Amino acid sequence: MKLGITVLPGDGIGPEVTAEAIRVLETVASRFGHELEAQEHPFGTRAYAQFGKAFPDDTRKACLGSQAVFLGAVGDPAYDKFPPSERPEAALLELRRQLGNFANLRPIVSQFNPEGSPFRDEALKGLDVLIVRELIGGLYFGEPRGREGDGAGARAWNTLVYTAEEVERIARVAFEAAKGRKGHVTSVDKSNVLETSKMWREVVESLGKEYSDVRLDHMYVDRAAMELISNPRQFDVMVTGNLFGDILSDEASVLAGSLGLLPSASIGGKVGIYEPVHGSAPDIAGKGIANPIGAIGSMAMMLRYSFDLTEEAAAIDGAIEVAMEKGFLTADLVGADAAKSTKEVGGFIADAVSGN
Ligand code: NAD
Repeated sequence: MKLGITVLPGDGIGPEVTAEAIRVLETVASRFGHELEAQEHPFGTRAYAQFGKAFPDDTRKACLGSQAVFLGAVGDPAYDKFPPSERPEAALLELRRQLGNFANLRPIVSQFNPEGSPFRDEALKGLDVLIVRELIGGLYFGEPRGREGDGAGARAWNTLVYTAEEVERIARVAFEAAKGRKGHVTSVDKSNVLETSKMWREVVESLGKEYSDVRLDHMYVDRAAMELISNPRQFDVMVTGNLFGDILSDEASVLAGSLGLLPSASIGGKVGIYEPVHGSAPDIAGKGIANPIGAIGSMAMMLRYSFDLTEEAAAIDGAIEVAMEKGFLTADLVGADAAKSTKEVGGFIADAVSGN
């Protein structure tokens, strides 16, 4: 099969982890006899510096014309003073919106409990949660938004808005996913305070009647934040809005051992986007120590969701498991003496995929 993908390495550690993810993908392509056509395009602050735009038109066309998009990460502290609409993060929101990917899938699996972890091994044993986050609605996209005035007289506002249709389509993704898992959906909202959440709960409840084989419960987001840490194994699929999902999935990353381990898939639109959950990590960029596993796992999700290549995806997931079991890992997971570099971990996983 031909695998035509657009690659946006982005900023900070983005290019470092992307290089390893591509290396693993090349190995999969050669082992299973696929033709890989991966074209890199500028995106994020580097694109801004070169073209005056974080999301240049040529990059947009390439994304729309490919079968899948792989993204490293964007963001640079030098751009923090820019207005929100001109920051590279705005380009990321625009990319997701333009491709119409309303569902972000973030699996959190516990395979390795690092030394110094606040969690007991038993509390994490068998943990396997899928967070389904609504991605192109809610507070991050709602209008009106803005800011006026300065100093003590300043005023700023955002709008949290969802339509019933938007809620139903994301909830359906969660119910469908639960059917192939443990058959349990927890919908997270703040319906004791927010009108949008009240409607969210009603829509999810009503859709749940179509899925008699799936157990549905609801939880307020503040309780869910607490339960995720105190009793995470109660969850199977969690479905929630854009803001709550952003926060809960970063919180849940602690359960996996490191933010650098988490992959994600953004689907539901014209072209899927696959990216590690982490950001550009400016504090470790350029040091060659970033964990590439979230990026590599995102490639596995790409093969599964955009190309329906389940065996190939399983080969990557299996190779990641081998790295975990053998403790062949970066410094976010193991002590400095044992830590391997980004390239070493990528090379190890690529070798495991090829059967070497
Ligand atoms: P971050 O995810 O970049 O980093 C948080 C912490 O986790 C840091 O200590 C970092 O060193 C560590 N970390 C992250 N990824 C790691 C990896 N692969 N291996 C080892 N350690 C890793 O979040 P932040 O510091 O809040 O944000 C930095 C920049 O990234 C900001 O500009 C932010 O807007 C942007 N950001 C981008 C995305 C994205 O591109 N999808 C997501 C989140 C944040």
